[in-house]
Amino acid sequence: MLELESRKECHLPVSMLKREYMTISRSTQIVAPDTIQHRLMQNAVRALLAMAITLSVLPISGCSSIQSASLSSPTALSAQLEQNSHPKIAGESTPLHLPVETPTPASSPTAAPTPSPFLRGPIAIGTSVAGRDLEVFQFGSGDSQRMIVAGIHGGYEGNTIRLADELIQVLTVKPDLIPTTVTLYILRSLNPDGEARSDSYKGRANENLVDLNRNWPAFWQSTWPLEGCWTYTYVSGGSHPASEPETRALMNFLLTYRIEALISYHSAVLGIFPGGQPPDPASINLAEAISKVSDYSYPPIETGCQYTGQLIDWASLQGIAAVDIELTNHEDTDLWQNLKVLEAFLAWDLTQPNP
Ligand SMILES: [Zn+2]
Repeated sequence: MLELESRKECHLPVSMLKREYMTISRSTQIVAPDTIQHRLMQNAVRALLAMAITLSVLPISGCSSIQSASLSSPTALSAQLEQNSHPKIAGESTPLHLPVETPTPASSPTAAPTPSPFLRGPIAIGTSVAGRDLEVFQFGSGDSQRMIVAGIHGGYEGNTIRLADELIQVLTVKPDLIPTTVTLYILRSLNPDGEARSDSYKGRANENLVDLNRNWPAFWQSTWPLEGCWTYTYVSGGSHPASEPETRALMNFLLTYRIEALISYHSAVLGIFPGGQPPDPASINLAEAISKVSDYSYPPIETGCQYTGQLIDWASLQGIAAVDIELTNHEDTDLWQNLKVLEAFLAWDLTQPNP
């Protein structure tokens, strides 16, 4: 078990975080999507060591409450998740020992594992058509449940998955970025089959050639007018609404954990889409709050496509404030910009939306 001192209630500005993260990046490496569950913790250990060094030479003003935070890695969390009827899952697992690097021959990793209030994952919330896990990471344990979903369009929008992996790494070493009032869940890839198949347009649909962002019970159609829409290859909306296991798994999670606000990442170019047809006020407000801190445009670019069966429209119908964010292109993760988006998303007050 590796421990470091973290500063609770201390929210670093992005510029400082960027400097720290660059320090970390020299000692670790952003992991490939298909191996993150195996390598994230090892990378996190290296990153935490770098962070401990960074924090020791980088005084942070205005932070008074210092507590010891520990990092635990996953064990049998899927079963626990299914058994747990309460939305909060923080601190209820049995943490595993990390593969701690022994600093000197004389020392040994004898410290007892301590449940982390900050990080759990990966948690398998279901499986894809081909049997791949749908992995969620949890950060924080506050009352307001929020979620980031990446990779709904698989390898074709693989940069959203890489962005999710980068955010997971940042939050692993900087858990105090999460306000105490918020629990954040990150689903790194809703379409792991498409992710594994191809990073071209062939990787967009799931294993049943269903577009997972056309499969939700909201304005659903099996097929739709193609004018203005994505037409690189054939995809369908499924045989019926929520026909796909990936859709049902996320739907169950969003309802069970009473998610209140949602970002669904896509690429590329078009800007920020609020949930709802017409968009609901809370989703519009969230879109505006995110556009203020980013270059992503709101209102978005409208291509004339009639959107059917979308995740954010279903979320809107459930009372969840939801937005699609389109990254700048199909390659870059826009990490620094999305750290600002993350800050705005976590700080967004859904009880008193910004004017
Ligand atoms: Zn997309």
